[in-house]
Amino acid sequence: MPYKISSEKRAYNKLYHNNRNNNTRIDILTHYGNGILACVACGENQLPCLSIDHIKGKGTQHRHQTGIPKGGVNFYRWLQKQGYPEGYQTLCMNCQYIKRDLAKEYGNIPKEDN
Ligand SMILES: [Zn+2]
Repeated sequence: MPYKISSEKRAYNKLYHNNRNNNTRIDILTHYGNGILACVACGENQLPCLSIDHIKGKGTQHRHQTGIPKGGVNFYRWLQKQGYPEGYQTLCMNCQYIKRDLAKEYGNIPKEDN
């Protein structure tokens, strides 16, 4: 007999995983925001625009080396499992793009390879 999941159970599972993923994101972004859920450069604090920045760049290269799947909370979970390693910071997407642009212009921050 095929296993059938009720729509109620499906909705519960979705909510559970969304909450779990959000809690993971909030935990990591707060840790790398120096204890505050906000961009370390400008103070932006809206969760959807915050992300983890590799301070020395080469984030894509690092992801390939470690085999962390792209997207979702995979990278955030990896950071938790590694015990919150140094070398990362919370930046908003505006500051991420500004940093990327400055790196291209001045070559002082290695640019990502994608
Ligand atoms: Zn910012």
